[in-house]
Amino acid sequence: MNTIEAVVRTADPAQWREGDAWLAGGTVLFSSGSPSAGQEPLRRLLDLGSTDWTPIAVSAAGIELAATCTIAQLYAFPDADADADADAGSAAGRGLAGNWPGVELVRPCCESFVASFKVWNMSTVGGNLCTSLPAGPMISLCAALDATATILGPGGARRTLPVLDFVTGDGTNCLAPGELLRSVGLPAVALSSRVAFRRLSLSNLGRSAVLLIGRLDAGGTLVLTVTAATKRPVQLRLESSAAALAGALTDALSEALDTAVPDDLYHDDVHGLPAWRKDMTYRLAHEIQAELTAPADRDPLRISGDFWPPRGGTLNGGPRTEGA
Ligand SMILES: Cc1cc2nc3c(=O)[nH]c(=O)nc-3n(C[C@H](O)[C@H](O)[C@H](O)COP(=O)(O)OP(=O)(O)OC[C@H]3O[C@@H](n4cnc5c(N)ncnc54)[C@H](O)[C@@H]3O)c2cc1C
Repeated sequence: MNTIEAVVRTADPAQWREGDAWLAGGTVLFSSGSPSAGQEPLRRLLDLGSTDWTPIAVSAAGIELAATCTIAQLYAFPDADADADADAGSAAGRGLAGNWPGVELVRPCCESFVASFKVWNMSTVGGNLCTSLPAGPMISLCAALDATATILGPGGARRTLPVLDFVTGDGTNCLAPGELLRSVGLPAVALSSRVAFRRLSLSNLGRSAVLLIGRLDAGGTLVLTVTAATKRPVQLRLESSAAALAGALTDALSEALDTAVPDDLYHDDVHGLPAWRKDMTYRLAHEIQAELTAPADRDPLRISGDFWPPRGGTLNGGPRTEGA
């Protein structure tokens, strides 16, 4: 980045000034470089690498992920034998988290990265949220689990908001200039829900084109979060009941998707046509609904499995012919 004049080790928003960027893992900053034409070039990087924020802290209230927690640290967390580098809190904390079904989403979400060694080990939860790509798997994880983002601003300002509202579009979010994402909190109540995960990509190891996560909350509410297919996360809540088994919820789900996701909210890029993303969103939503409304003992959690289209198949969409 040949416009950079200084690298400052700080996590203090008071030090931010025009032309600065927070530097986390650097996997976006060092691959995309300075802002595009028409925008001011970056002059300084404010390096978050020297913060001593605990990457993952577990309490009865839930799990707190520091913005600087790397994907490698997060991936190691559910494993009780994770090495010390994971720094995933005490064994007691991991034991507590082991009782939360929602923790089973961590690894499939990490695996949803198109991750080189560099991205896996350097990129951060916060950097992923702040990059705000539709295919941001940390956005999927946090939005689906009703996470709250804590944001620091100059002058000691601090505010919180749902991750669902943090990302506002393809590459856009609600951070004001100089604001710093400090952490995301995953609440125990959402982590305690039964969960289901579905992901599709047009190619094996391709970028996520459709990523849906379902939760069945204790009160029987089905919470469905749509990401990757859409420019920003979308969440639906449907009351689940015995009627679901008779198909009533199936119609309600389609109607709720019709209302919540207008056609122009489906993302359009080389990783999938909007019409295909829409078809697959409905398909996966109904799969999740069927999985979560079946009795738990008859239908164990299916977190891993059929993420990809069958080999040689493209599930209706097909890659774009032009430069795909
Ligand atoms: C080969 C490759 C494959 C990739 N695949 C994917 C993919 O599948 N899905 C995906 O979503 N992304 C992907 N990316 C993009 C990127 O690697 C990830 O989004 C990554 O999580 C970014 O995190 P980072 O810590 O490296 O961010 P950085 O590069 O350090 O920062 C990214 C942006 O966020 C800002 N920022 C970082 N942290 C904070 C903070 N705490 N507060 C405020 N602003 C902050 C920075 O100023 C910068 O504007 C890929 C990148 C590469 C090179």
